[in-house]
Amino acid sequence: MATPRLDGMPRPPLVPPGPELDARARTRYARHLLLPGIGELGQRRLAAARVLLVGAGGLGSPAGIYLAAAGVGTLGLVDDDVVDLTNLQRQVLHRVEDVGRPKVVSGRDGLARVNDGVEVITHAVRLTPENALGILADYDVVIDGADNFPTRALVSQACARLGLPHVWASVHRFDAQASVWWAGVGPCYHCVFPSMPAPDQVPSCAVGGVLGATVGTIGSLLAVEALKLITGVGEPLVGRLLVHDGLAQSWVELPVRAEPTCPVCSPTADPVRPLGTTGFASGEAPAVDPVVATSPRPEVSVHEVEALLAHGARLVDVREPGEREVVRIPGAEHIPLAEVLDPTTPFGDEVVLVHCKSGARSARAVDALRARGVDARDVRGGILAWVAEIDPSLPTY
Ligand SMILES: [Zn+2]
Repeated sequence: MATPRLDGMPRPPLVPPGPELDARARTRYARHLLLPGIGELGQRRLAAARVLLVGAGGLGSPAGIYLAAAGVGTLGLVDDDVVDLTNLQRQVLHRVEDVGRPKVVSGRDGLARVNDGVEVITHAVRLTPENALGILADYDVVIDGADNFPTRALVSQACARLGLPHVWASVHRFDAQASVWWAGVGPCYHCVFPSMPAPDQVPSCAVGGVLGATVGTIGSLLAVEALKLITGVGEPLVGRLLVHDGLAQSWVELPVRAEPTCPVCSPTADPVRPLGTTGFASGEAPAVDPVVATSPRPEVSVHEVEALLAHGARLVDVREPGEREVVRIPGAEHIPLAEVLDPTTPFGDEVVLVHCKSGARSARAVDALRARGVDARDVRGGILAWVAEIDPSLPTY
């Protein structure tokens, strides 16, 4: 017998069963009907269930495919992005011919290919504090495959406000974390992650890289959790933080508890506080030093770089090593952002041109260098501008 956990105990099914299955559905879902705890009643619950996927990307793809195949009656897709060639390495809902199409449209078509009996509702928007409650309120379960902190924080707060389970994961390179947050039942996301990370502390997939198959593993896990919640089978991943190391192929489970004073989910939380990132403590490193930010940040265009280099300027690339493998500007020396921000890294009195992918990290670097008295200038638009305006034959990412 498994030891019962305070937060991880079986829960009643989340969704009442829909109408009886017809003959075709009995055949299609025959392997579910055989499963203890699911059976015909569970399959009817799935047919009546409404699951929202926030993000039709790396995690949303496998989660959506398995939920559609499982016969979840209604799937919502929230995404304001279009399919990019770099997405196809892990976002298996989209195909080569979908590049350039809105992800919710491509995703809807992909899910229909898996199961034409599923209703797919598309929300081609970015979740905002203004629209989040209205969108989420129509669903029974929310699967959070967001790739950015503000959306994750917003989903967490909206789920807590609506009492919805928030099936969540975060994947970085070969590693992942996953849990089911559920205000009133176990901890919410804010209980366990009360601080907002500084932008450079959590590199995105675009910067840090990510193994597509690991995203697939974790996205499937999210689908399992949603199916368990809907049917009431098993113990949901509530009150437990699963930590996965893909290189070691290890899984560690950490107990996590609701924070009695949590500003998002505790009984004393303000029920009408505006949603968003308010209430999250800032990470250690603010994105921009407020003192430096008041002084203007000199910029140069990519067209000026060559001439400045000829006059003795240095060009510094502050991106991560993997990004340089994809594409680099000739003559750029590599000093990753963390090293540039380290005040012991030596710089002389020459002009230092700084570039990154599109400008966010180089802006931080330029501000930090100028605060040290270095004549640093930001290469506007980063390497993406270089490729677009100087050498379109180069690859982008
Ligand atoms: Zn909380």
